[in-house]
Amino acid sequence: MAAYLPFHVPEIDDEDIEAVVSVLRSGWLTTGSKARQFEQEFAAKVGARYAVALNSCTAALHLALEAIGLGEGDEVLVPTMTFAATAEVVTYFKAKPVLIDCLPATLNMNPDHLERAITPRTKAIIPVHFAGQPCDMTSILEVARRHNLRVIEDAAHAFPASYKGKVIGSISDCTCFSFYATKNITTGEGGMVTTDDPDWADRIRRMSLHGLSRDAWKRYTNQGSWYYEIVAPGFKYNLTDMAAALGLSQLHKADRFWKTRERYAALYAEGFRDLPEITPLVMQDDVQHAWHLYVIQLDLDRLRITRDAFIERLQQQQIGCSVHFIPLHLHPYYRSTWGYRPEDFPVASRAFKSMVSLPLYSKMMESDIHRTIAAVRELVLEARQ
Ligand SMILES: *Cc1c(COP(=O)(O)O)cnc(C)c1O
Repeated sequence: MAAYLPFHVPEIDDEDIEAVVSVLRSGWLTTGSKARQFEQEFAAKVGARYAVALNSCTAALHLALEAIGLGEGDEVLVPTMTFAATAEVVTYFKAKPVLIDCLPATLNMNPDHLERAITPRTKAIIPVHFAGQPCDMTSILEVARRHNLRVIEDAAHAFPASYKGKVIGSISDCTCFSFYATKNITTGEGGMVTTDDPDWADRIRRMSLHGLSRDAWKRYTNQGSWYYEIVAPGFKYNLTDMAAALGLSQLHKADRFWKTRERYAALYAEGFRDLPEITPLVMQDDVQHAWHLYVIQLDLDRLRITRDAFIERLQQQQIGCSVHFIPLHLHPYYRSTWGYRPEDFPVASRAFKSMVSLPLYSKMMESDIHRTIAAVRELVLEARQ
């Protein structure tokens, strides 16, 4: 029996380990020069004027909403096909997450559904670049412009990615990235906000550290003084230098990681091309897909197997799979508090029943991809109607 192929393993090499160890030896562990350097290099990489390093993408989304002045009773348009974080941050403000159904081809937010969801209380849209494929930003930004809404991208999957030649991170008001352990580059836990607006960048930085007028780096080094003022009641969301050193080291390898993901994604596409029972998500023209996830949809009408059994069988073949995501509207909180029903989001509800995320990461061997393709093919041929 072949060894277990986990759904995800981060790619950490000796250089990454050395980078973290050198911070541990340096005497300065929390936010400092490494975090600043990570911000500067990340901003340059995505073509943003400012980047603020934080301890998660959830924190990034929270502080971006804080910076644009979201308030109680406001509404924010969020795709239902996303992770908990995207919508939960809206509730931090006693504001309402207004869920939007997805497009069947890409599972990205359907821009045609935005306008009918807008009310006088709507303040912002949070598009999620599902699996790493950029959303239709032209349409989303057009709706936002027409209704004077802010756009905060949840780019947790979308690094490195671009839309019509523009790098994700340089397009809308604020863009939020994740460096969680399973993301395309990782700091264990970590995140980043990019923006071109100096006031938002300042506000996000300040609120990430208790709303203090100056951060610890400036207070405890020879560059600073002990004095600080609390200018607003903030949060504790700063990224440590240990994490930032890992982030920098990972950032330098991001393009190599991406090339491997892209190559593997192409092998999957080729491997399933002749199977009508398996539909990969549709690749749009004019985008660079970050290939965070490789999601297939099963044509359950043609198969004598459920999605859950499909995953179970791959698991028995020692192949780890997952499902991204259980749409928000199907969760107890969203059903009971906001009254969402499965039939309100027919595309996402249907997609959820048939979707499977196959393993895709740079640490996999090419033979792991071929093995996964072979296991999926065997299962389909066996379960074919
Ligand atoms: C991972 C993820 C997040 C949260 O990222 P953290 O860094 O863990 O806070 C947000 N949105 C999406 C779509 C994600 O997949």
